[in-house]
Amino acid sequence: MKNTRCTPDELARAYVVTRRCSGRGSRGDIQPGTIPLVQHPAVLIQAALQETFRPTAPTEVYSEDQPSFMPRSAEEENWIPIDMLLGCYTMKTRTVTIFHRNIERFANHPLQCNVSDLETIVRLHEYAHALVHLGVFWPEESKVIRDCLMGQETNWNAFLRDRSRAYRSLQSDTHEFLAQTLSWITIGVLQPLTRRYVLQELFVTLMSRQPAHYQLTPDMLGKSCYADPTALLSWVRETPRYKPTQRQPQRQIAEALLRESFP
Ligand SMILES: [Zn+2]
Repeated sequence: MKNTRCTPDELARAYVVTRRCSGRGSRGDIQPGTIPLVQHPAVLIQAALQETFRPTAPTEVYSEDQPSFMPRSAEEENWIPIDMLLGCYTMKTRTVTIFHRNIERFANHPLQCNVSDLETIVRLHEYAHALVHLGVFWPEESKVIRDCLMGQETNWNAFLRDRSRAYRSLQSDTHEFLAQTLSWITIGVLQPLTRRYVLQELFVTLMSRQPAHYQLTPDMLGKSCYADPTALLSWVRETPRYKPTQRQPQRQIAEALLRESFP
């Protein structure tokens, strides 16, 4: 009787061929010494802002839920509030939830855009909320970790407690200013350029269907692409937060901090 057992080489070749035939991707051509184009929203936002999620990246959940929004005026009938209909970030569980069925529905109509492009913008928006909560600026990472040292180990609970306190103290219009601005800055470094332009256009279209606190002014849109949000991010993560006078609205201070870095 003939021995039909494969050699390891034959087995490996069969596995690779089967995988390729099933249409699953590969890394493609690898150029030594270069970093591949970043595509995943969670990775993209960390790279664009030179931050990393700590202690871990948020959990991402694809939900079958299709939450609804009840307009209370003629103006609101035009709205597609991102955090009510398309996705949300939950600070307590550090979870990004994506309502993919609503994304598909609104992409097909009324936005008439590519579903995956809308999904990318929603994911960026929710990861931006998460980054305000959990992001650490690369050059400051070792100091942040040293400050959390308890005995021989890093006490991430202390880090999370401080960050959650700061996150909770932000007002909703400040939260949305941050999420929108950080998403916009991230889209601004996307490659290739053709994809960047498509997403920039969709971002502006989607913004036009948002409540007032999601809106970015034209100068903010024009110049924040070249802005450095590190001072803004360190301010929003402080507790207690420096405030020149009690009357200064939080969002206006946040906007002024970003404008300080405009070229
Ligand atoms: Zn939001």
